[in-house]
Amino acid sequence: MPETVDFYRIDDLLTEEERLVRSTVSRFVDERFLPIVTDHYERGSFPMEVVPELARLGVFGMHLQGYGAAGLSNVMYGLACQELERGDSGLRSFVSVQGSLCMFPIHRYGSEEQKQRWLPFMARGEVIGCFGLTEPEFGSNPAGMATRARRDGGDWVINGTKRWITNGNIAHLAIVWARTEDGIRGFLVETGTKGFEAREIHHKLSMRASVTSELILDDVRVPARNELPGAQGLKGPLSCLNEARYGIVWGVLGAAIACYRSALEYAKARVQFDRPIAGYQLTQEKLVNMLTEITKGQLLAVQLGRLKDQGKATATQISMAKLNNVREALQVAREARTILGANGISLEYPVMRHMNNLETVLTYEGTSEIHTLAVGEEITGLSAFK
Ligand SMILES: Cc1cc2nc3c(=O)[nH]c(=O)nc-3n(C[C@H](O)[C@H](O)[C@H](O)COP(=O)(O)OP(=O)(O)OC[C@H]3O[C@@H](n4cnc5c(N)ncnc54)[C@H](O)[C@@H]3O)c2cc1C
Repeated sequence: MPETVDFYRIDDLLTEEERLVRSTVSRFVDERFLPIVTDHYERGSFPMEVVPELARLGVFGMHLQGYGAAGLSNVMYGLACQELERGDSGLRSFVSVQGSLCMFPIHRYGSEEQKQRWLPFMARGEVIGCFGLTEPEFGSNPAGMATRARRDGGDWVINGTKRWITNGNIAHLAIVWARTEDGIRGFLVETGTKGFEAREIHHKLSMRASVTSELILDDVRVPARNELPGAQGLKGPLSCLNEARYGIVWGVLGAAIACYRSALEYAKARVQFDRPIAGYQLTQEKLVNMLTEITKGQLLAVQLGRLKDQGKATATQISMAKLNNVREALQVAREARTILGANGISLEYPVMRHMNNLETVLTYEGTSEIHTLAVGEEITGLSAFK
């Protein structure tokens, strides 16, 4: 099977090195991850055994420079995300949280001491991070957060609850965003600290091969040096989300490609009314729509990646691409599900697993409504958030 779906010779826009990064991650996903994902999805667990392999591939903080990170381009990082999410959105989420939501803020806003202390270990997967922004009462509007940090001598004391936190129960280090007298600040909280508790959220019907948790901080005391010195206000966490959203723009293409391929193969093999269902016009329309949306999404992702590598990508460009590519990937998954008929609801095929995962991806890192409002504000100059 060709390495990727490429109807428009988009590979011609990539360098040999970029294609090599994709092949390397692709091989890992095919050989090491796909054979185990369904079992983990069914059990509701993340395959921790792949963490050292992911570290060897260099995907943790892949687009960051120095401190043990691979220092590759944004396009390469995007291609890696595409392949990881072709495996499962839970796998890409693990890598996004580690690199974009945890290593990035330390790299961008941390002190030299914080960078030296954490980043090389995180790049090697020896320290796992989580990112605590969302709260039970504040999701789309994190500016309202109730978590508080107050100074007490040479320490900060943090109180609050964070919810829906990826990797919460398996993390060694939590980046916790809290309100202080001087506005919102980020804190590095070792998860073994007294007063810190992570409770796993069960009964999820989406992102089952990913750990999601509630974090409870009850008088958690951290030294002043654990504050991220460069992060002032909500701009800090929002800039991290921008990084992770960029990975999603590519990642969901991988999920869509998995669904498209599965549906195409199935449609050619499945015979009803004495003909393969791929020969019926209604099925072909579905397949053509899927491929068309994948192709448009790929072009958007490549151009966004190039802009990001040139330092020119804006937050609203990332919003538009996240909005489009997630929405279309979900539509591809839903159409693919119909082509598989009853088999479409089975875990033996990847389609419904991806479809369910994409329901989370539609919501996290900014819902589709919030990204629509962000682009709407940019083009009209009028905010419709309130
Ligand atoms: C599996 C999973 C993993 C996650 N991982 C993390 C993580 O690691 N770290 C983290 O901090 N968070 C994480 N999240 C949380 C995620 O970012 C939030 O769920 C998301 O920001 C939306 O917040 P909410 O669920 O509170 O929905 P709400 O903000 O309550 O929104 C509910 C609905 O109202 C709509 N809405 C809200 N405001 C407006 C408006 N002004 N105009 C129109 N519509 C509006 C929304 O678009 C949505 O449709 C995760 C979520 C999931 C499901």
